[in-house]
Amino acid sequence: MYYNENTILFLDGKFVKAKDATTDLFNQTMHYGYGTFEGIRAYQTVHGVKIFKAHEHFDRLQRSCDLVGIPFTYSAEELTQISYQVLKRNNLKDAYIRPLVYCHPNMTLSAPTGVSVMIAAWEWGKYLGDQLVKVCVSSYQRPNPKSVKVEAKVCGHYINSILATNEAKHRGFDEALMLDSNGFVAEGPGANFFFEKEGVLYTPPLGNILPGITRQTVLEICREMDMLVEEKHFRPEELFEADSAFFCGTAAEIIGIESIEGQSFSKPWNHSMGAIVQEAYKCIVLDKSYSYVIV
Ligand code: PMP
Repeated sequence: MYYNENTILFLDGKFVKAKDATTDLFNQTMHYGYGTFEGIRAYQTVHGVKIFKAHEHFDRLQRSCDLVGIPFTYSAEELTQISYQVLKRNNLKDAYIRPLVYCHPNMTLSAPTGVSVMIAAWEWGKYLGDQLVKVCVSSYQRPNPKSVKVEAKVCGHYINSILATNEAKHRGFDEALMLDSNGFVAEGPGANFFFEKEGVLYTPPLGNILPGITRQTVLEICREMDMLVEEKHFRPEELFEADSAFFCGTAAEIIGIESIEGQSFSKPWNHSMGAIVQEAYKCIVLDKSYSYVIV
């Protein structure tokens, strides 16, 4: 699914066949989840294949490593060029790119002496599909920022995301919405969250969430289009009074939410502010211009 006989990936300075790439079983990432990664998308645009916000993603990868003490010193530009090479060597146009920084063998809990860098790419549809999603409020909280660096994209943090998604699926929902350790709405297991109420979009502030690059893009779209948007803390009960809501993330893009805990939103998705943002986002990633008149 992710690679075949001929797939090429980047590993520590070399382009190698994915099927031949190996790793040491005694690395800290495999045992303790001590590694960092990114999720990036490339699009076939009218101006050729473009990686969306590549530098922002590689800057976040660097920041993730710095926050948890993983030594890592590739430049964002260098990693961007390598990613374009991975796409080209695999003849990929619309693709998902996965950089992973993993640690060298070390079974202690002290800082690693060295790391490996892998960059792979594959074709991947919208992570949560094309249909509106049915969401539940998770019994799992996002990790407490006093316990981990929540703003870092660290491998081990995703156990929390996997638990929440699995619980949601077992309960018959498509995806989970997670609260922070104070009981405020935080984000999805792999996407940020917005809701609409009386002509304003609301999203949780930074602090207890991953600072999503798509979230930032949504904020930029709103400012450009004069849509009102506010970052604030809110409790899940407030969502039952909301007009609409959506998740946003690199893998999921912008995906509308049908219902939360079985309660549907009053506004049809097509008439929501999220649908306008979704259209604008599509234009931006495809390098097309967009213009809307909000009446
Ligand atoms: N929150 C979490 C927990 C995520 O894993 C992701 C995906 N990276 C996001 C939000 C969205 O971030 P981005 O828009 O940068 O993909």
